Amino acid sequence: MATTDEGGAGESEERRICSLHAVPKRILPASVTPMRERLINLFGNKWVTGTVLHYYFFDRDTDGENVLLENGQTVFVPWKGAENEMQVARQAFDVWAQQGIGIRFEEVREREEAEIRIGFMRGDGAWSWLGREILDHGPNERTMNFGWNIAAPGELDTAIHEIGHTLGFPHEHQNPKAGIEWDEEAVYLDLARPPNEWDRAKTYWNIIRKLEPGEVEGTTWDPDSVMHYPFKAGLIRKPEHYFIHGLQPAGGLSERDRSWVKTLYPPTDDAAAPLLRPAQSVLVELAPGQQRDFRVAPQETRFYQFGTFGASDSVMVLFESDNHQLRYRIGDDDSGEDLNAYFRIKLFKGREYVLRVRMYHSERRDQTSVMMW
Ligand SMILES: [Zn+2]
Repeated sequence: MATTDEGGAGESEERRICSLHAVPKRILPASVTPMRERLINLFGNKWVTGTVLHYYFFDRDTDGENVLLENGQTVFVPWKGAENEMQVARQAFDVWAQQGIGIRFEEVREREEAEIRIGFMRGDGAWSWLGREILDHGPNERTMNFGWNIAAPGELDTAIHEIGHTLGFPHEHQNPKAGIEWDEEAVYLDLARPPNEWDRAKTYWNIIRKLEPGEVEGTTWDPDSVMHYPFKAGLIRKPEHYFIHGLQPAGGLSERDRSWVKTLYPPTDDAAAPLLRPAQSVLVELAPGQQRDFRVAPQETRFYQFGTFGASDSVMVLFESDNHQLRYRIGDDDSGEDLNAYFRIKLFKGREYVLRVRMYHSERRDQTSVMMW
C-alpha cells in the first residue's frame, strides 16, 4: 500500500498498492466447530511471541529473474536494492520493534540465516507471504518484494505494511466487519489501469474478497490501519461518506495497529521461564492466544522428543540460544487435527534452548500439558 502526503485525487492516480499471492483456502475437518475454526484462522499463521526474525537483502548480481517481454525478448531483472531503499526497509522494521513487542528483527548477511528475504524486483509489485507462510520458501526465494522505489516520499508506509503481512496481518479493507460495499466493476477497472495493471483475479483476491471471520484482528473495522489500502472516490458504495470523499488512512501505525500487535506479541521474559526437565509433564493452562515458555538445558547430547497432550490446537516451537540470540530450530502446529504438536530433535549438552507453546484452542483449559522425553 502506498500513501502520499497529500492524498489528493491527482496523487491517487499514481498510487501503487501491495498485492498478495493467492493461497488455497485451508480446509478443516467438518468436526471442527465454528469457534475452533475462528481461533485457528486468527492464530494459524502468527508467530509465537519471543521469535527473532532475521532479515536479509538479496545482494548477488546473479539474484534476479528473467522476464519475457511482449516483443519476445528476455530481460534480466535484479532483486538487489539500492542502499537508500534498504534503509527505508530497516526503518520500517524499527517502527514495529519500537512498539515494545515480543518479536525482534535482526539483519543478517547470509540468506540461509534469514526467515525474511527481501528483493527489490521492479515491476513485480509489493508483497509478502503472510506470517509463518514465509517458512515454506527456500533460501534463494524472496519472502517479500518491493516493486517500486520505496525511498520516494511517503513510501515508508509501504514497507511498514509489508512487514505487517510478515507478522501475519491481512488486509484490513477485507475485514468482513467493515461493511464495505464495493462498486465492484469500478474497482476492477481502476486496478486494471496503470500503474497497478492488475487482472481481475488479483483485484478479487486483494480487495473484493471478504476474509473469514477470525482472520482479521479485533472486533471492529479500522480504516486508519496501515494494513488498509487508500481508495479514491467512487469505489466504495457504502459507507456513503467514502463514495464521495474516497478513503485515505491516516498514515503510519494506527492506534489499533499499535495495541493489537502488542496484544498478539507481548514481550517475553525468558530468564524467568521455568526449566522443563525430561519425563516431567507440565500442565500449561492457557486461554486462546496465550503462550507458555520453558528453558531447556540438556544434561546429555541425544535425540529428544517434545509433545503436547490433551484435546487442543497449539503451536510448539524450539529455539536455540546462540550467543544470546535465539535461532528457530523446529516447530509443529497441530491445529485442526486430532493430533498433538510433536517433534524430535537432537540437542547438545551445554547448550541452551527455549521451548514456546502457544494455544489456539483447547476443549478443557486444565487438560493440556507439555512434556519432553
Ligand atoms: Zn498488502
